[in-house]
Amino acid sequence: MPESSVQLLNTVFGYAAFRGDQQSIIERVSSGNDALVLMPTGGGKSLCYQIPALIRAGTAIVVSPLIALMQDQVEALHQLGIDAAFLNSSLDAGAQRAVEQRLLAGDLKLLYVAPERLLTGRFLDLLERIRISLFAIDEAHCVSQWGHDFRPEYRQLTILHERFPRVPRIALTATADAPTRREIIDRLGLGSAQAFVASFDRPNIRYSVVEKDNPRRQLKDFLIGHRDQSGIVYCLSRNKVDATATALTDDGFLALPYHAGMSAESRAANQKRFLREDGIVMVATIAFGMGIDKPDVRFVAHLDLPKSLEGYYQETGRAGRDGLPSEAWMTYGLADVVTLSQFISKSDSGEERKRVERSKLNALIGYAESTGCRRNQLLSYFGEQPPANCGNCDNCLDPPETWDATVVAQKALSCVYRTGQRFGVKHLIDVLRGVDGEKVRKFDHDKLSTFGIGVEYDDRQWSAIFRQLVAAGLLAPDDEGFGTLRLVDASRAVLRGDSVVRMRHGADKVERRAKRKSARGERAKQALDIAPHESALWDSLRGTRARLAKEQGVPAYRIFADATLLQMVRDHPQSLGELTRISGVGEMKLARYGEEFLGVLTAFAHD
Ligand code: ADP
Ligand code: ZN
Repeated sequence: MPESSVQLLNTVFGYAAFRGDQQSIIERVSSGNDALVLMPTGGGKSLCYQIPALIRAGTAIVVSPLIALMQDQVEALHQLGIDAAFLNSSLDAGAQRAVEQRLLAGDLKLLYVAPERLLTGRFLDLLERIRISLFAIDEAHCVSQWGHDFRPEYRQLTILHERFPRVPRIALTATADAPTRREIIDRLGLGSAQAFVASFDRPNIRYSVVEKDNPRRQLKDFLIGHRDQSGIVYCLSRNKVDATATALTDDGFLALPYHAGMSAESRAANQKRFLREDGIVMVATIAFGMGIDKPDVRFVAHLDLPKSLEGYYQETGRAGRDGLPSEAWMTYGLADVVTLSQFISKSDSGEERKRVERSKLNALIGYAESTGCRRNQLLSYFGEQPPANCGNCDNCLDPPETWDATVVAQKALSCVYRTGQRFGVKHLIDVLRGVDGEKVRKFDHDKLSTFGIGVEYDDRQWSAIFRQLVAAGLLAPDDEGFGTLRLVDASRAVLRGDSVVRMRHGADKVERRAKRKSARGERAKQALDIAPHESALWDSLRGTRARLAKEQGVPAYRIFADATLLQMVRDHPQSLGELTRISGVGEMKLARYGEEFLGVLTAFAHD
């Protein structure tokens, strides 16, 4: 008698209940129908095809774009006692033949293949000779040529349906935006597939944005709240990656660089260490991304603005796959806005493309400047209707105070006007503050009516004011990329006194907020909530896990996830029967590791 999906969930995976739409998706695919699954990272997509693969007769063919992803998934399935393998260029000819033999013999429940392999005539012929239970197309957004994960071979995957029309297909992605979604349906011929769209909220991620002041110190303060935790620090350029990694290493952090300018070997080596060891800070460009399935990434920090909110969501989404508390933290300043605007202006893309990029940048700036709930902004952008306050972002936890900055804005805007709309922020601030420098005198700007009308603020405060004016669309960076600012239509209403400008409080308050925030960072560290009297047990369990992982050459989380160890600490099971009730302890893991972990648990007396 075939086992039910719930039984398999309990016995094989060790989980008590399905999440969200998992069960409906599984039932749909198991009964031979197509499905399109849009679920955020960490939502539990893998089960959606793995359980149907166990229920249906034959082998499930899983298309996956990256070797690292395949290896990781197959390793995880082996830990659960499931027959699975992958075929890709990392295998030598002998190993490939062995996998093909197992496939032909019907020994595999799941086979992971790279798209280019799948599309070869030889492999398609092989498929004709076996029983296929289903096709799963993972990371389905790779069909989209607008995303940076574009893989041309994905577009030919329609051939699967043409050659094997009776085999159900399930396409999965964590990409949230509507155009990509449409492209997937279109390109993969999934028009009649039922779509399951989950909320893209990641409630365990806490979002915060800080004004850039002394980024190196700010980053350090942030990281101190995350000692011994794994995380990613994103930078825009390769140079900055190298410099930041070096600075962090000097400051005593275990930091490694990753960018496309490094040799393939050192990149792979750093990635491997990040995945397998605990507590490494990966400093990287966005080249570091897809295929990072590490579930216990506790933070993602951005030292530079990402290019769009989609990118920001994807990058920050690498934190907290395991559902435990995690942080997405970003520093943001005027220079970021200007640099990115210049990137767009100077690029050789067409006008329409530039317009799209500019509006994406504006959405991102709006997010960074927002005084309301960040999560609300993010999810609204993806077309959801989230509650007004999430209670787990900086602005919800510590609402920013705003002030009427109309007069100040008028001073700044008229200074731009009087100086002829051809200077950058630094010079404008000098004029406002009445700094009698060489450049000021060269242009006779000390004779202007706006010279020295802004002495009440210092450089930093003025810089924050200009940043907010640019972000609010009241000033525009020039298109040529010289960093000069000019007025726009909306500026005139302010100058005439027809509209009110509100801003966040200035640098003094910023400082205070930063302090309170780092105090919260300390608490974020405690968020796993290991009480002092539990920490010896926690450390022993982690030690046992680390040893077993090392013996097998797999990452620690492959043995048991943090969430599973945490529940062991909480529930303190004292028998194998009690141990099976812990989420994440299925039959195979109980058999392999049960005694070992029980030994640790019984050695610690109940309190
Ligand atoms: P995705 O591929 O959507 O990013 P995964 O499939 O890797 O997510 O799942 C994320 C984590 O959640 C994994 O550790 C997985 O085992 C776990 N998980 C998935 N479904 C459940 C469930 N129903 N109950 C408990 N844990 C689950
Ligand atoms: Zn919020």
